[in-house]
Amino acid sequence: MVITIDGPAGVGKTTTAKRLANKLGYQYLDTGAMYRAVTYFFRQNSVDISSESQVKKMLDILNLELDCTSNDDMKLLLDNKNISSLIRSKEITNAVSKVSALQAVRERMVKIQKNTAKNGNFIVEGRDIGTVVFPDAKYKFFLVADYDTRAKRRLKDFKRVNEELNVNKIKQDLTDRDQYDSSRKLSPLKQANDAIVIDTSNCTIDDQVNQIYKHIERN
Ligand code: C5P
Repeated sequence: MVITIDGPAGVGKTTTAKRLANKLGYQYLDTGAMYRAVTYFFRQNSVDISSESQVKKMLDILNLELDCTSNDDMKLLLDNKNISSLIRSKEITNAVSKVSALQAVRERMVKIQKNTAKNGNFIVEGRDIGTVVFPDAKYKFFLVADYDTRAKRRLKDFKRVNEELNVNKIKQDLTDRDQYDSSRKLSPLKQANDAIVIDTSNCTIDDQVNQIYKHIERN
């Protein structure tokens, strides 16, 4: 079974999805990390993303493996190298939206996402999981939060990977990224009609997880 968690950046999707996976004994698939991995790969190889043929050629040789066996973490291996923390940098964060808007990239990633989660119990988090990747999922959640809360959470994430940034700059970057992700032509960030909205602005992570958990238990 697949449970989808979508929403903009910094609403606590990743932490919530990991905790929920742990609680339910499910595996966890972070699709944002996959788009970040492709962005990292393209940058490493100086790919011109305005060239469709170059993008396609590089996707053909992309050797990306996902290790979702742990139910509270997901490892990404690029050519057998663990890049899970490298993809969290400011540089990748600022570049990922343009890469994730490319059709060839989305087609390839969605195929992997469907194949990965089709035979197991998965919490899948992203932007288009409830709308495009798993539109028939039984449980769909869409997390939201105000910009101040989200910026503060992101600041903590960046500190974890030793990057210094101020909260106003992060707020601006979040606004820009949401705007880009929501207005792109292909699979934009959007709430599925049948998703349950959870506002996490004044919630602890435990609250968020419990709200979702209770909903699943009740139904
Ligand atoms: O969730 P995270 O911040 O790691 O996502 C990074 C980026 O990947 C998003 O800003 C978005 O551009 C892209 N993304 C996407 N579709 C998804 C998940 C993420 O386009 N399902």
